[in-house]
Amino acid sequence: QAKQAGRNGLRFFDSKMQDAISARASLEADLRVALINSEFQLHYQIQVNSLGAALGAEVLIRWMHPQRGMVSPAQFIPLAEESGLILPVGEWVLKTACHQLKVWQDNALTRELTLAVNVSSKQFRQAEFVELVKKTLQSSGANPSLLKLELTESLLLENIDEIIAKMNELKLMGIHFSIDDFGTGYSSLQYIKRLPLDQLKIDQSFVRDIMDDNNDAAIVQTIIAMSDALGLNVIAEGVETREQRAFLDSHGCHTFQGYLFSKPIPLEQFEILLATKHAAGMPTER
Ligand code: C2E
Ligand code: MG
Ligand code: MG
Ligand code: MG
Repeated sequence: QAKQAGRNGLRFFDSKMQDAISARASLEADLRVALINSEFQLHYQIQVNSLGAALGAEVLIRWMHPQRGMVSPAQFIPLAEESGLILPVGEWVLKTACHQLKVWQDNALTRELTLAVNVSSKQFRQAEFVELVKKTLQSSGANPSLLKLELTESLLLENIDEIIAKMNELKLMGIHFSIDDFGTGYSSLQYIKRLPLDQLKIDQSFVRDIMDDNNDAAIVQTIIAMSDALGLNVIAEGVETREQRAFLDSHGCHTFQGYLFSKPIPLEQFEILLATKHAAGMPTER
């Protein structure tokens, strides 16, 4: 009897595993098709200063799947990383972002806007990454100093000297670096100190409960103090309320990104948002 149940249990587990595996396989197959059929889009999320003026944007990829609808990057980026498809996907993101940067650069109203691009660890570790960035900047004509690469702490787990050497090469070209989701990973302060960084980006999980959770408030204050001590700029992501913004601002973080200002939106809408802010003398919130 027990043996029977065990066997059934095992079979049940097997078929669930099997379902998960084929769901992944089919999503991966779709991802290959998506690259060929140009099913990706970039959305832009504004980054602002204390006055609410636009400093730039972060580009966030969207997958418009013909049957599934919009697939979240949280779902397909990990799969793209495991399958290696993150390399062509990431190349497309970089190319599209640099092209946009050049367009903004050539317009008096947008010429100083920066663009932040997420770079997965696997992408950064590829041997040709520096060359790819160089070529993409050259062919687009974008100003490297307006490009910011968002890296995550997972990059710092292996071959740190190699990573630093690569960062330095890119840094020499004028590119800026931010550590995304800061505080959620494993980076040691020893490493952070050695990296040619420009910015720490406080993870939204700390910002979310900043008003109610003393620990989160303390962590945020510590990250801000650390940024100051290391001479780094600091930005908070996931800012949704005026209270959160006021707290951050009064504790020394003067750059923000979050739904309070705008969700990530398609380019056409983003440009309308910029124009509206300009016409209205930079209102702070939506
Ligand atoms: P991330 O880089 O940390 O981006 C922030 C995420 O928080 C975005 O989710 C954004 O839409 C969301 N967000 C922004 N403001 C708020 C807010 O006020 N409240 C809340 N609740 N959420 C907010 P999204 O667009 O779904 O992206 C998820 C993650 O996928 C990104 O996290 C990033 O790690 C990854 N990703 C997105 N685009 C790319 C890409 O082009 N390349 C790579 N390698 N990864 C990407
Ligand atoms: Mg990011
Ligand atoms: Mg983040
Ligand atoms: Mg995040």
